[in-house]
Amino acid sequence: LNKMENTYNQDDLELLQILSGQAALAIEQTRLYQQSDMIAELVHELRTPLTSIGTIAYLLQRPTVGEAERLSLAKTIQQETQRLSNLSSSFLDLARLEAGRVGLCLTEFNLSQMIEECIEIIRPSAAEQNIEVIFQAQTPELTVRADPNQIKQVLLNLLTNAVKYNRPQGKITIAQQMENKGVSVSVSDTGIGIPPEQSAHIFEKFYRVSGEETASRAGTGLGLSICKRIIENHGGKISFTSALNQGSTFTIHLPASA
Ligand code: ADP
Repeated sequence: LNKMENTYNQDDLELLQILSGQAALAIEQTRLYQQSDMIAELVHELRTPLTSIGTIAYLLQRPTVGEAERLSLAKTIQQETQRLSNLSSSFLDLARLEAGRVGLCLTEFNLSQMIEECIEIIRPSAAEQNIEVIFQAQTPELTVRADPNQIKQVLLNLLTNAVKYNRPQGKITIAQQMENKGVSVSVSDTGIGIPPEQSAHIFEKFYRVSGEETASRAGTGLGLSICKRIIENHGGKISFTSALNQGSTFTIHLPASA
């Protein structure tokens, strides 16, 4: 507005001031709506595990409940509690990122080494399903300037998904590449794939592909939203390609320095 003082007369300026005030108000209202939408979705997601735990508590009180049933019900409570815990920590992560309350702690680090570390974390769960993990490492090793904790969270999310949505005896291939203005890392799996008609939604909060294949695997639908937010905060991009029943490849592109 100050710059405009020479170009506009007083009435125009007053009108502009009113309009910019209204625009600011509209932006704030949108932000509040988005927040309350997100909370409404969270409450909706909390309902299923809570109902399930409540029902189990009721079933456990029956005098006829046998030992085997008691153990199976207790196991379900454990799974549902884990789901609540994953949901609340992912929700908090995303809410903080969306509120712009997570700064970037930029450091130069060895990306290749970090990928190796992340692979070691997911290797036991991959081995449980006889999934082979292949890292196409590069020499010299790649370094980036980024927030190491956040990039690790992204890599772990993508690798965890590559195990979770894979098939027994499947394969995960991790490749890294130096690019024109940065680096890229791709995680490919030989799993269930993503139906093309749903692929536009998978970065949306709480979105999970519909169908038995996905429903039978535990998840919150928040992991990819967190990844997208983190990578975009670094000035990078995340993309994927997928073929139903054949597998998916998720790729992150990071600029040389965020
Ligand atoms: P979730 O906790 O459900 O895994 P994400 O946000 O990580 O949540 O992923 C959103 C949805 O995208 C998943 O529920 C799944 O339907 C689909 N998806 C993500 N990664 C893969 C993959 N590697 N293969 C197939 N489907 C995937």
